[in-house]
This record gives sequence, C-alpha cells and structure tokens, in this order.
Amino acid sequence: QEQKMSRPDWLKIKAKTGDNYKSLKEIMRTQSLHTVCEEAQCPNIYECWEQRTATFMILGDICTRACRFCAVNTGRPTELDLREPKRVADAVVAMNLQHVVVTSVARDDLADGGASVFAATIREIRKRVPDCGVEVLIPDFGGNWDALKVVMDASPDILNHNVETVRRLSDRVRSRAKYERTLELLRQAKEMRPDIRTKSSIMVGLGESMEEVFETMDDLRAVAVDIVTIGQYLQPTEKHLLVEKFYTPTEFLRMRGEGLQRGFAHVESGPMVRSSYHAHEQVQRADGK
Ligand code: SF4
Ligand code: SF4
Repeated sequence: QEQKMSRPDWLKIKAKTGDNYKSLKEIMRTQSLHTVCEEAQCPNIYECWEQRTATFMILGDICTRACRFCAVNTGRPTELDLREPKRVADAVVAMNLQHVVVTSVARDDLADGGASVFAATIREIRKRVPDCGVEVLIPDFGGNWDALKVVMDASPDILNHNVETVRRLSDRVRSRAKYERTLELLRQAKEMRPDIRTKSSIMVGLGESMEEVFETMDDLRAVAVDIVTIGQYLQPTEKHLLVEKFYTPTEFLRMRGEGLQRGFAHVESGPMVRSSYHAHEQVQRADGK
C-alpha cells in the first residue's frame, strides 16, 4: 500500500481576496463560461485574477482523453458552441484582462481538434481588445499540422503546448499524447511562425529524476521553445497518480538556473507554478522588458 505524503508548508495557500478578484468572480457568474482557474481550483487564483490574468477553457468541459494527473471529466463531449469565441471576447472586455490564456479539452472527435474555434477566439479577442496579450494552450490535434497552421495563422502572442512530464513517464502519465509528437508540434509551430513565442510546461513530483527534467529541457530547447514553466504536481483526487516527491523551493531554483543556462528566454519555476501562472510577466521578461 503506497502512502500519501502530507503537503509541506510551502504549498499551503494563503487566501487573500482583493477588489479585482471579487469583480472578476461576479462577472464569471453572469457569463456561462468556464475558467480553468476556478474549475481546477488553482491555488494562484487570487494572485492571477488580481493581476487581471485568467485562463478560459473552450470547447466544453468534457475531454475525450483521461490523463492520470488531470481532474477534467472524460466522456462524450458537448456540442460545439459557435458563439463561444464571441462570449470569451465579451468576458475579456468585461474583466478588463491584460493577458488571457485560452485552452481546451482534447477534442479527438473533431476533424480539426477544435483548431478553427481557437483561431476564431484569438481573432475575436484581438478585434475587441487589441492590447490584451493572447496565449493559447493547445492540445496536440492528434498530430494534424494543418490544424496547427490554422491556429498559427491567427497570430497568438504565445503558442503553448505542454510536454507535462519527462520522456520515460510520458505514456504512463498522459493519455494518448506522445512525447515525440509534442516535440514535433512545438518544432512545427516555430517553423511556421518564427515570430511567435512557444512555451511548454513540466510537472515534477511524478517519479522523475532531476536529470530527466534537464533532459526534457534539452529536448524543448532543441525545438527552439522560448519559455518553460516547472511546477509541483499535486494529486487532484484519490483516483489520480500519487505524488512521488515534493521538490523544495531550493530545488525549483536550481531547475530555473539550469533552464536559463540552456537558453530559454524565460523560466518560471516554483512549487505553485502552473502553466499560466505569471503568464503576463513571462512574456514581458521573455521580451527583455
Ligand atoms: Fe488561472 Fe493559470 Fe492563474 Fe491558475 S495559474 S489562476 S489557471 S491563470
Ligand atoms: Fe486533462 Fe488535457 Fe489530458 Fe484532457 S487531454 S485529460 S484536459 S490534460
């Protein structure tokens, strides 16, 4: 019987609610939209929403895959909502966001994996709020690079696709995704649009060694990824993979140093770091601002 470890002190959340947070919460109640911030019960919600960064989940909240670290429901997806791009843009206006992350469940049931809806959402936000930074965190579209091109042609500021874990654990941790396909997606994106920043995230604590994390960084750099984020895996429910290790803040600093040495323009590394944490500052720092 494997034992569940208790959380170290640096992972205890301080709940602090400011005015921005409260007003965003109200806006979300009046729109029928999903944010990952709320649904994943992200520990950074107070901080991100105060800084007017939020992550929207489009294409429904039921995923066709079932990754062993992820709390999103699996099943038969909902019907496509063609007004969704407009509603996301409405929310970005109402929430006065500075940086928006748009992500989705995997839609293996759709021929283009939902790429056209991503593209429409980017365009709609651009039209309404030209100053808002737009980042998309996309699924792998089953390796359909024509679908990827549809997204790249809509010119997001950042194209994000998560590698999630090291090569050795990839098949165990992720459902249907392939380590090599993830690298190929990131390589293709950069080739299609060298002017668009690419980004990827690694979760640690799933049984990988530090060496393997460095190898994953090497693999990401080899396909010219600009930004990497590294955060602690936390078990969402008892049914999900156990946490094998809690990395210390010092170990996260070491991984950050190793990442910078490898030439990433920005590395966000810390116990509470999630893919979209400090997303706005990540771009600014990567741009040398
Ligand atoms: Fe939302 Fe991402 Fe911030 Fe979490 S880290 S609150 S998901 S924007
Ligand atoms: Fe969760 Fe994404 Fe995996 Fe679906 S594909 S189960 S949303 S991590």
